[in-house]
Amino acid sequence: MTAPPLPAARTVEALRNQVGAWKAAGLRVGFTPTMGALHEGHLSLVRLARTRADRVVASVFVNPTQFAPGEDFEAYPRDEAGDAALLAGAGCDLLYAPTVSEMYAPGFSTTVNVAGVSEPLDGLARPTHFAGVATVVTKLLLQCAPHVAVFGEKDYQQLQVIRRLVADLDIPVEVIGGPTVRAPDGLALSSRNAYLTETERAVAPVLHQALVQATARLRQGGSVSHVEAQAAETLAAAGFGPVDYVEVRDAGDLTRLGPGSVLGEARILAAARLGKTRLIDNLAVWS
Ligand code: AMP
Repeated sequence: MTAPPLPAARTVEALRNQVGAWKAAGLRVGFTPTMGALHEGHLSLVRLARTRADRVVASVFVNPTQFAPGEDFEAYPRDEAGDAALLAGAGCDLLYAPTVSEMYAPGFSTTVNVAGVSEPLDGLARPTHFAGVATVVTKLLLQCAPHVAVFGEKDYQQLQVIRRLVADLDIPVEVIGGPTVRAPDGLALSSRNAYLTETERAVAPVLHQALVQATARLRQGGSVSHVEAQAAETLAAAGFGPVDYVEVRDAGDLTRLGPGSVLGEARILAAARLGKTRLIDNLAVWS
């Protein structure tokens, strides 16, 4: 059975009117922000939100401020009609698809900077990225005002940045992380996988394999620095390059592990380029 067409809100006012009506009727509202080009990973978050809320809003907004000059903002895949059909099938109740000018009116001047957790890893490789993410997510959460918001563990550092800003700014929302959805060969689903050539797609699962191997070595007592170096070598040997990082970090604030740190609370995170595509992935060391 095909789902009925999904209602869309294009302005903050239309979004607030619908969410306000649901809340006035005593309903719990869930929210999952995306940049579109939706796949099963995004849809899993909509379904997770559905288990925690009576109504689910999904946003599709390709946020220009989280792309640096020379990154793929213009090329980023866009397919609103396809996205809307997938969202409706996953149980979403409202698509929020604002324009860039609705989100960033003339004179827009505010940036949300999350110190600490934004700084290492992708923060080094993409210095302006997390300020763009933190600012747009703050806006989206304030616009939608959901009871619960769901983000993917696929973008683990982003999830921790969002947890931090929600706590610091007293935004009244429960943040939930959803597990990474993978292709059968282990590659984490990503809208950017569409950029991979056939040959690169065949190599791409090595990223996940290297992390699985690294977590096994860590659990067997391998030293963090040695295991990180081995994983980076595995990626380089498979044809990835440059490898931006493969690092084991505290799962909460993403600081480096000290001598007394508990590996059980650690996360291994990696980012590496494969041809023109930058892939990221991460795993709990001890799941
Ligand atoms: P994006 O559209 O890439 O900005 O992602 C929107 C949301 O979907 C973010 O919370 C991502 O972490 C999440 N997401 C992306 N890929 C996956 C995946 N493979 N599994 C689970 N969540 C994902």
